[in-house]
Amino acid sequence: MRNYLLLVVLVLGLSKTNTTRASDLKIATAGKSSSVIVTPAKPTPEEATAADWLATALQQVTGARLPIHTEDAPHLPPHGMLVGDTAFARKHSINSAQLKPEEWRIKSIGHSLILAGGRPRGTIYAVSEFLEQELGVVYLDPFTEVITPHSTLSIPAIDRHGQPAFPVRSLFSGFPYGHPANGGPVSEKFAIVNKNTNNGRVSSGDYARMIPTGVHTFGHFISSKEFAATHPEYFAMDATGKRLTDDMGNQSAWTQLCVTNEDVRRIVIERSKKFILDERATAEKEQREPSRVLVLSQNDNTSNLCLCPQCKAIADREGSESGPQLEFINHVARALNDEFPEITVMTEAYNFTLQAPRTLTPEPNVMVRFIDNYGFSDLTKPLTDPRNERSMNLFRGWQAKNCQLGVWDYWRVFQQHPAGSFAPSINVRAIHSDMKLFRDSGVKLMTIEAEDVFGGGIVSEPTSADMQSFFPLRTWGGMKLMDKPDQDLNQLLDTFFRGYYGPAAKPMRALYERIADRQAELPIRVVDVQRHVWMEAMCNTVFMVDAYRWLDEAMAATASDPFQQTHIQRERIIIDSAFLWLEEHLRQSDPAQAVSLPARAEVLRRHRQDWHDFIHTVFDPDGLKQAEPIIEIGVQLAEKLKREDTTYEHVALQISESDIQLDGLLTETFWQQASTSRMLPRDPRQPNDDPTSIRLAWTDKALYVGIEQPIDKASATFSVTLMAADRAGLQLTLILPQNNGRQAVNPYFYKYDANGGIVAVNDQKSQSKSWGAKSNTTSTTELEFLWSDLVESVTPDPQGHAKRDFLLNIESYPAADSKTATHSSSPWLIGTQPGWHSGYYKPLHLKSINER
Ligand SMILES: [Zn+2]
Repeated sequence: MRNYLLLVVLVLGLSKTNTTRASDLKIATAGKSSSVIVTPAKPTPEEATAADWLATALQQVTGARLPIHTEDAPHLPPHGMLVGDTAFARKHSINSAQLKPEEWRIKSIGHSLILAGGRPRGTIYAVSEFLEQELGVVYLDPFTEVITPHSTLSIPAIDRHGQPAFPVRSLFSGFPYGHPANGGPVSEKFAIVNKNTNNGRVSSGDYARMIPTGVHTFGHFISSKEFAATHPEYFAMDATGKRLTDDMGNQSAWTQLCVTNEDVRRIVIERSKKFILDERATAEKEQREPSRVLVLSQNDNTSNLCLCPQCKAIADREGSESGPQLEFINHVARALNDEFPEITVMTEAYNFTLQAPRTLTPEPNVMVRFIDNYGFSDLTKPLTDPRNERSMNLFRGWQAKNCQLGVWDYWRVFQQHPAGSFAPSINVRAIHSDMKLFRDSGVKLMTIEAEDVFGGGIVSEPTSADMQSFFPLRTWGGMKLMDKPDQDLNQLLDTFFRGYYGPAAKPMRALYERIADRQAELPIRVVDVQRHVWMEAMCNTVFMVDAYRWLDEAMAATASDPFQQTHIQRERIIIDSAFLWLEEHLRQSDPAQAVSLPARAEVLRRHRQDWHDFIHTVFDPDGLKQAEPIIEIGVQLAEKLKREDTTYEHVALQISESDIQLDGLLTETFWQQASTSRMLPRDPRQPNDDPTSIRLAWTDKALYVGIEQPIDKASATFSVTLMAADRAGLQLTLILPQNNGRQAVNPYFYKYDANGGIVAVNDQKSQSKSWGAKSNTTSTTELEFLWSDLVESVTPDPQGHAKRDFLLNIESYPAADSKTATHSSSPWLIGTQPGWHSGYYKPLHLKSINER
């Protein structure tokens, strides 16, 4: 394992020696140690860690390594820095046992300084507070520490204390960037000094550890494997009366429990007790506090909870499926309370249970974690923004229950997009506002899901992994705001930009503010639109020209520091990606501004270089082995795109119904006028050899697709998917055997319900049609999609965009292998893993997005 580079940013500040008073604690004089660090005679692992990190930071600041002694060592000097639950601290009424678990205390006594806190981590927090507030030492990412050097250092009298605003602040999994170094010593220190509760061997107590696991736990209590064959009645019933017992090999997904079943309740109570007792035994063995949170929460990825008559009666009475769920959770919580009064039973308001029940109230030992479903609210806007009203009302519904409340927030968007295709967005202003709201609403627990491209997602979800703008700021700033929601945002940003970008702080701050300002003025919500729509809306030509000016300035300002430049290259990867996917649109929409844009060849060259330089600073060799092939696909895809592939407006030609005759022949005049899209290989490393051309036209009634191929190259089958870009829309997929003459097509529909759940629409009412035809030289297909099929359930927003933006994907399947698509409509394609068939969709704007 290679050593990570560590960027120590030296910030010159006022010397601490200017105002030295007799009462000050002398730490170092001219680079020589003038003090000692003292721990309790038997320090806890956290106290020993705190002392070590303090000595390390002081050495970076002063050049002197302070010796660390235990309090029972002989011949200790009379003064020093007392770290943890020392006898000295207790003598002065600072006793760890009497402090709250995460509370910290910094107090000068004569020429000594006490740094102590509640257990387990409070003492570490006292040290990190001391370093940050008194010495300006901050840890901005796992590789970037900001140090203000003082070879001579004295500390004036201090008396400060505090505790984080939320008992649990759990941000995952973007450290550093998550994978696979996540959990390693580098990221661990970064997370802990910034008070993130879920990282690290030096665990935080209280709610941070959960049993049997963090979320979606039903299958851990009653699994499909154990009971499906013998007791199908334990599992949820669907609308047709069938019990859904198949968890498809994932005990946290696909099945749910019948929560009114008496045996289910009995078994869950029995097993809850066993989980709690097992955890106690393990904790004792590991010499730590046992977890006090039992998680009892619905599984993931299903289309409904239990619809049996008993469960449904409660849901009907309570106006929400949260009714039967909470009634069940309360029952279990009551059964545990006498024997285990310290245990909180945590459950989720998620999918079907987002809406609070009418009459039921959670028991005092139940915590409800409200999950902002897959970023149902727009993460770039605070929850108080009118555009997030729906989520806000759902949250208020639970808040009104006056129960123990947690929040699971998404700082990422789940959406399909081509590998390596990124769009700028930032949510720090929203975090600032939301954390105050949650704190004032009595929330105790924050869980933040914020995977970056280097979070856990890069391998499991290569097609929805994101490269987020200013991701290091999101993680560091997010942790800071979860700790202290009231701190001044401007000051926080100053600290970050000065430390992270050094002499490039000013242009990088300008880029950050522009992204935040621009998204604030957009009428669309980032969660409602697909990646390309957001990219196009955010990145108009003026934005891109300004972004490049600031990035150029930033690179020039840091020319002497290649490592610091990787922080800027990281942001340039996102802007360059947007450029590579938008270039023709940018040049066409504003030719005057576009003359300042860089040349495509130059952007392609540095895009590859930026990725290389960046990932080599954040991955070890194991991580590089996993990350490089994924990144390579995105880079090659961008390299395979031609400038003419990257125009998005008016790709479909508007015609009238009388213009078209559905006969499978593309002989109508308008087909010759329509612009052509091409197919690209699903694997961008394969040659670009598909001769298929695709043309689009539309009327008020329908969308028409014309596909043409040379007869000797004709595909056996096309799969056509058309989806409303608004997430509240319908999707229909046609598997279309080509060239068999006139035929009806059976589409498959699904739609999103009001709570973001997916509902299958069973009545196939589509009138969509296709016709195929052959001549001696060409094979052609004409398709008709009725708008009424696609948008009938969509409530358009005031701009009507739900009716105007669609995603179209056409995949071709050769005769030799009718299962594996080899080509996909340009330029939205690519599966990176065998079997990954999620399509990428060609954006289809019937009108320009800029009209909104
Ligand atoms: Zn039931």
